[in-house]
Formats: sequence, C-alpha cells, structure tokens
Amino acid sequence: DKEGHSRWLVAKRMERIEYKVLVMSNKGGVGKSTVTTNLAVSLALKGWHVGICDLDIHGPNIPKMVGAEGQKLKISTSGGIIPFQAYNLKIASMSFLLQNSDDPIIWRDAYKYEFINQLLGGVEWQDLNFLLIDLPPGTGNESVTTIDLLGGVSGAVIVTTPQEVALLDSRKSVSFCRDSEVPIIGIVENMSGLECPHCHHHIEVFRKGGGEASALDMGVPFLGRIPLDPDVVTQSDAGEPFAMFYSDTATADAFHGIANKV
Ligand code: ADP
Repeated sequence: DKEGHSRWLVAKRMERIEYKVLVMSNKGGVGKSTVTTNLAVSLALKGWHVGICDLDIHGPNIPKMVGAEGQKLKISTSGGIIPFQAYNLKIASMSFLLQNSDDPIIWRDAYKYEFINQLLGGVEWQDLNFLLIDLPPGTGNESVTTIDLLGGVSGAVIVTTPQEVALLDSRKSVSFCRDSEVPIIGIVENMSGLECPHCHHHIEVFRKGGGEASALDMGVPFLGRIPLDPDVVTQSDAGEPFAMFYSDTATADAFHGIANKV
C-alpha cells in the first residue's frame, strides 16, 4: 500500500545517513532556522557531508538564508527530488514544494503529511554524515509524524532564548523528547547578550544564563550561548550564512563550538 511504500522509501533514504538531528523550539522567532543553518555550515566546514531538511511548513525560512529563495523542485531521471546545493550543503525545503509561498496556511495543512513524506523519502539525500531537520515550532502533529516516519532519530537540539517565557516553553520540548524517546543532545541559548560594536562592552539584553540554569535543572546538556548579533541578521537576509563568512568573533566561535558538540 501507499503508506507502506512511503515508509519503506524513507527508511531506505535514512539508511545512508549517519546522524539524523532534529532542531526544535517551542515557539517561533527564537532563531531555530538560523541555528540550523549555521550549525550545518559549521559542520560542513569541518569536512562532514551535511543536509538540511526544512520541515517548518508555516515559516520555511531556510531557503532565504542560503540564497535559495524561489527555487522549485528538480526531479532526477530516477524520479527523486534533487536537493538544492549551496555552501557544500544539500537542502530541501517545504517552500520548494509550495506552488506559491503566499498560499494560505489551510491549504498547506491539507498536504503537510504528504510534504513531510516527500522531503524525507522523496529527496535524493544520498550518503550524509548529518541531516539536520528543522521542525516547525512546538510539539505538534508534524513533529510526531516526523519522528514516527524516521523510526528513530540520533537526537534533538533545542533552541531557546533567555526570556523566562521561552524557558518554560523549552521545558515542553524536553518533555516531548523524553516522551518520544528522542535523545536530547542539548539546549542552545540564542540571542544571549549583545556586544556593543563600539566599546565591546557586553550588554545583557534579557536575563542571562536562564538556558544553562534550566538545562541543568532538567538534567540536559547545555551546548552554549549565541549572542544577539546584527551581523547574523544581515548575513541571513543576504542568503550568505554567518558561519561561512565570519570567524574569530564571539558569535562565530559560539556556532563553531556548538557544532563540535552536536
Ligand atoms: P525561527 O526559525 O525560530 O522562527 P529564525 O531563525 O527565522 O527563527 O530567526 C528569527 C529572526 O531572528 C531572524 O530575523 C534572524 O535573522 C534573527 N536572529 C536569529 N538568531 C539571531 C542572533 N543570534 N542574533 C541576531 N539575530 C538573530
């Protein structure tokens, strides 16, 4: 049957991928896609074969961050989807499957399981060391379906920001992983403090250290802090990922340091 075939295809594709890593957050806008993209770039710079699967149907931001906006799918002679290649990464996104990115959400919802299937099993990922999977925010059906289809993942990275609300939210992601038997690689605290570009004084914009404290509290590894950095936004908007173009800055060190722990 059709469902059995999709599962078989996903399993077959995933056999050739060493580590399948979910990137999660409990709400939108905390930098989940930014972290996914820059960790992927950093891993690729270290010489690994890396793919990004952008399953965030409500806000597929990855294509813009790697200069792949407006790309549509390309089909190979064997009928699979050819991933977009940039910065030594293989990238497939929900947005490549949408006819028009302005299509109403309700229309997308009707197709989301089909889309998740396509992006995991339909794409010719080939041999990869890492596939980073950018999940939609929250712990909804898309996440459950993805984990179920994958039949197990290597682990999850949970992205949070230092604000209290977000921290309470990250607890939900931790519980979700535990309930779904997904190993937690650790928590990343994004947008953590700001370095003044003029005097280099470190400004705590939000309360600091919440991510680390709550990681400790929940018995989960803390992977590190990424500062709030205007260059991250500029690079993302230009489709040129920060970690590819910057080194020896606090933010670049943060991304590369966290990638070492993934
Ligand atoms: P999410 O995927 O969680 O919805 P995004 O990755 O799209 O979030 O990031 C939301 C916005 O925040 C984007 O404009 C992005 O450039 C910006 N952003 C993310 N991380 C940082 C950071 N460390 N410093 C500055 N801006 C950031």
